[in-house]
Amino acid sequence: MGENIKIAVNPPIQVGGSLFTPEQLVKIGTLADSQTKLEMTPFKQLYMEVPVNQRDRITKELREAGLEVYPSGFVVKSLIACNFCKGAEDAGLDTALRLNEAIAGIETPTPIKIGYAGCGLGTSEPLLKDISVVKMKSAFDIYVGGEPKGLKASIATKLLTGLVAEQLVPVIKAIIHYYIANAKGKEKFSKFVNRVSLDELKRVAG
Ligand code: SF4
Repeated sequence: MGENIKIAVNPPIQVGGSLFTPEQLVKIGTLADSQTKLEMTPFKQLYMEVPVNQRDRITKELREAGLEVYPSGFVVKSLIACNFCKGAEDAGLDTALRLNEAIAGIETPTPIKIGYAGCGLGTSEPLLKDISVVKMKSAFDIYVGGEPKGLKASIATKLLTGLVAEQLVPVIKAIIHYYIANAKGKEKFSKFVNRVSLDELKRVAG
């Protein structure tokens, strides 16, 4: 038997949330053989185990069906966004799409989850993510260090407030790259935030 690899599959970020079409589900079912393991992760990605030598073909066919395909494992996951119930414009769908394009799939010391909420109601649970963006009217706040797992779970802390949309990609990429360069081994992002301090991350983001 050949070697297998997991790929992460999800529908695009859109109004309505994580919506697969019936045709997309059929496509996934057609590309999977009876031995394929399909795992629904808690971060809105479907993990699909595929033979390494067929990964490129399967990725191409999934993308042609309108799905997004990313690496699994120690990377920035695709943006975990809300359902944009206030509408694409008010909730900032374009901003979320740009952010996802800039960060999804970057290799990191541990898996990083980045959240996005289109308003302060935060129904996508932004404060439980490593990094989150919350749209507040026309500006954006950034939170860091949420940790939902374990008995020492903690919520994220506000790092920056009142950002304009154009600042989000450079600021968040700067934080991610600082983490990549300075994490101690497989140091969790929440621990890293506590160790380096919010003031240091503000300087990095500056
Ligand atoms: S975070 Fe706000 S805009 Fe997004 S789905 Fe929840 S209530 Fe709607």
